[in-house]
Amino acid sequence: MREWVTAFVGIGANLGEPCAAVLNAVQVMACLEGVTAVRRSSLYGSTPIESSGPDYVNAVVELKTRLTAPELLAQLQAIESMAGRERPYRNAPRTLDLDLLLFGQSAIQSAALTVPHPRMWERAFVLLPLSEIAPDIVRATELAQVQGQTVHRISSI
Ligand code: AMP
Repeated sequence: MREWVTAFVGIGANLGEPCAAVLNAVQVMACLEGVTAVRRSSLYGSTPIESSGPDYVNAVVELKTRLTAPELLAQLQAIESMAGRERPYRNAPRTLDLDLLLFGQSAIQSAALTVPHPRMWERAFVLLPLSEIAPDIVRATELAQVQGQTVHRISSI
């Protein structure tokens, strides 16, 4: 029997109904076989970085999972597709973006998957919600490095 691993997933959306898309994605993740959602951060709003279109709605969710990291990524990509995710060009606006940020203590570098997520430490829209639900993971110095980025909390639950 596989052990349960703690994973963190970054969620973003800026097309359609982004708040609903983020909240729905958390519910769908929690219903996956071998996955339990432990807690979700508040919802945050952020201006697009290396992307375009309306402001993003972002959140981070902590999961416990018995899936492997590639299995979890495949499930996340299926949820993105169900939400109507299209990739017309790199960094295009999106109905739903799910990034596997951390998977236990694993360091993974394959063609399809890099964990920890390679850009998570540069992004306030990841670090702020992550620090809300896992304050031991994000250092004050790391938060300080992204404090110039425009991110604001848009819900307290
Ligand atoms: P995006 O367009 O941001 O959704 O990027 C998706 C691509 O990034 C896919 O080809 C994934 O295989 C790849 N990828 C690599 N590492 C990760 C990760 N930690 N989380 C999500 N996607 C990843």
